[in-house]
Amino acid sequence: MGEESMRADGAQRSDGAPHADGAQRADGRRPADARDAAVWDAAATVMDPEVPVLSIADLGVLRRAELLADGTALVTITPTYSGCPAMDAITADVHRALTTAGFERTRVELTLSPAWTTDWMSDEGKEKLREYGIAPPTGSAPAGPKGPIPVSLSVPCPRCRSLRTRELSRFASTACKALYQCSDCHEPFDYFKVH
Ligand SMILES: [Zn+2]
Repeated sequence: MGEESMRADGAQRSDGAPHADGAQRADGRRPADARDAAVWDAAATVMDPEVPVLSIADLGVLRRAELLADGTALVTITPTYSGCPAMDAITADVHRALTTAGFERTRVELTLSPAWTTDWMSDEGKEKLREYGIAPPTGSAPAGPKGPIPVSLSVPCPRCRSLRTRELSRFASTACKALYQCSDCHEPFDYFKVH
């Protein structure tokens, strides 16, 4: 150890040193630096345990990846929902993916602020979600506290695309999803809630 290099954004790459807050970083994007990108690529192979067609990069859960000076592969993730039980599985999977990719020292950090929003989900991710049979989030997250749900925010059926759907339950298989049913084809489906 001993080698300390300062990054352009002010974060120290030495072990245990504080990292600059993400303001200047391209959060949610594959890093330009080749060594950092290798960490990103390894982490991006991790799929969401609840929606196995979506990677954590598709979801926007993967925020940052970098290789520290001491060889530690550091990955920062933001949970979709605070208390989402899937996060423990995702954290373990990221460690495993990094180890498999040849990184001997791995660290996974959770960042809760800024909070994850469905806006971070890639367009490709939303399309994969629909193909999987889960309605992707529509519109953007509401700016203020919950008011009446606007009529325009109808949830399309992932099977027939009908907009005549209704909510059966606020919580489906997980707190992140609501259970809907299509009034046309009667297909019940999970809707990935906008928040
Ligand atoms: Zn339908």
